[in-house]
Amino acid sequence: MSNLIVKTASAYEYPLLIKQLYLAPLANNPNQEIVYRDQLTLTYKTWQERVHRLANALAAIGVKEGNTVAVMDWDSHRYLEAYYAVPMMGAVLHTINVRLSPEQMIYTIEHAEDDVIICHADFIPLLESIKGRIQEGRKFILIDEGGEVVNQHFQFEGEYEKLLAEASPTYNFPDFDENTRATTFYTTGTTGLPKGVYFSHRQLVLHTLTTTAALAAPASQGRFHRDSVYMPITPMFHVHAWGVPYVATFLGTKQVYPGKYVPAMLLKLLTSHKVTFSHCVPTILNMLLKEPTSKEFDLSNWTCIIGGAALPKALAIEALKRGIDIFAGYGMSETCPILSLAQISVEEEGLTFEEQADIRCRTGYPVGLAQMRVVDAEGNDVPQDDKSSGEIVVRSPYLTQGYLKDHVHSEKLWEGGWMHTNDVAVVNSKGSIRITDRTKDVIKVGGEWLSSLEIEDVIAKHEGILEVAVIGCPDTNWGEVPLAIIVSKDTVQFEDREIIQIVKASVDNGVLPREAITLKVKRTDSIDKTSVGKINKVALRTRFL
Ligand code: AMP
Repeated sequence: MSNLIVKTASAYEYPLLIKQLYLAPLANNPNQEIVYRDQLTLTYKTWQERVHRLANALAAIGVKEGNTVAVMDWDSHRYLEAYYAVPMMGAVLHTINVRLSPEQMIYTIEHAEDDVIICHADFIPLLESIKGRIQEGRKFILIDEGGEVVNQHFQFEGEYEKLLAEASPTYNFPDFDENTRATTFYTTGTTGLPKGVYFSHRQLVLHTLTTTAALAAPASQGRFHRDSVYMPITPMFHVHAWGVPYVATFLGTKQVYPGKYVPAMLLKLLTSHKVTFSHCVPTILNMLLKEPTSKEFDLSNWTCIIGGAALPKALAIEALKRGIDIFAGYGMSETCPILSLAQISVEEEGLTFEEQADIRCRTGYPVGLAQMRVVDAEGNDVPQDDKSSGEIVVRSPYLTQGYLKDHVHSEKLWEGGWMHTNDVAVVNSKGSIRITDRTKDVIKVGGEWLSSLEIEDVIAKHEGILEVAVIGCPDTNWGEVPLAIIVSKDTVQFEDREIIQIVKASVDNGVLPREAITLKVKRTDSIDKTSVGKINKVALRTRFL
């Protein structure tokens, strides 16, 4: 084989580095806009200069190849600058999850060995609270959006804008091995210590190319293209906002960064900039649609991927009625993240909303370069009958190669050469996957497995339900029974037995298995959420069982 690898000594090998992702848009569309809230609009050209300035500013305070630069900021043009400048210097970008508990945050800062932390003024109190518990010797840069920062403890190297203004707008970004680590962040796991995942330049480039192609592939539904207007509504600290900021920059589309998520501001930006493409978790979309003023905003040109948790059918139908092109996407922190999308075909666009929702809420089809299997306990593929369930295992060139400095969990993640997702799913005859649960969330009633997601879907259709989560509850007769924890709307009065009745009706018409009638119901004012806004079933179990 080796004589088939032929190289000309002077040929340029073109390593797959993040710096190549912005070359085309800068050449083709330098005046395209990058917007920050209602505060600032930059052109791609100015933004690129700022990327160079940031690299020079970091170099001036001693950042070198192999160092780690962490960011604590809301979603912003600055974050996008760090997405490029830090890895392009050969350093590692650590996107700190600002919603972790102080204990977990200390752990991640120490574990990632952050050399520099770029911190928005809003998070100074948080840093102050852990001061003395993180090692000395780190350098800090302040992002001060014109506010008065009262800070007694931190010696900042400077303020972000001032440092950029003083730095040169040209930095010579070097070439290096495409397998160099570019980013690190921590899983938002609800148990145990957060686990660090990491991605190389090559992986981020391949994820960008794959996602770009997957979103450009459909004839009309679920598309993202050069003329889209993009606004992320999943935090930039979590899995690079699903990698879509890299896609948007690669395509040269207009980008809008919303800062801290405030529903009224999100709705205002969505409509004033005519945003056409976003992504968020179901709870955020639910919040936006339930916002009192929401109906005043026209969202009929908006396409939104829902991921991070299953897209409930009732929410999908509500969104479709508002004219929103909604569909599910699936992935996890360990997978960079995008593995599959539930886009629909041109023929399927003619179906009723109810029928379309069944397709759009599935986990969908693997994107190019993602190999997904659903396997039983022996590792055999389950039949494609949409009933037989198994675990999703995956391969792709952009999956984390392990957990940072954690050999034991890394081996478990990659057992048998496939990445284990712990997601339970079925596959239909067309090859479309549908997640029915997390392995830890399935409920075993009298020996039969029940999907908590399917029961939640049925209950969410009741007009009085604001939010619902179903967990398994120990039971002397059945071993376990489903417990629905519900938050009801103030405006609708109803009895708990109505919830039991709609579940029973779904059992009668074959939507849910017979065992679902063992359901119990409890009411609460709020449902616990994780640091990225997903339903936290571990916390619910602690609270209600
Ligand atoms: P995280 O690593 O925090 O991004 O969480 C990843 C997990 O979220 C996956 O393993 C799934 O359990 C869940 N998830 C993500 N997308 C979907 C989806 N479309 N449907 C169902 N569950 C999802």
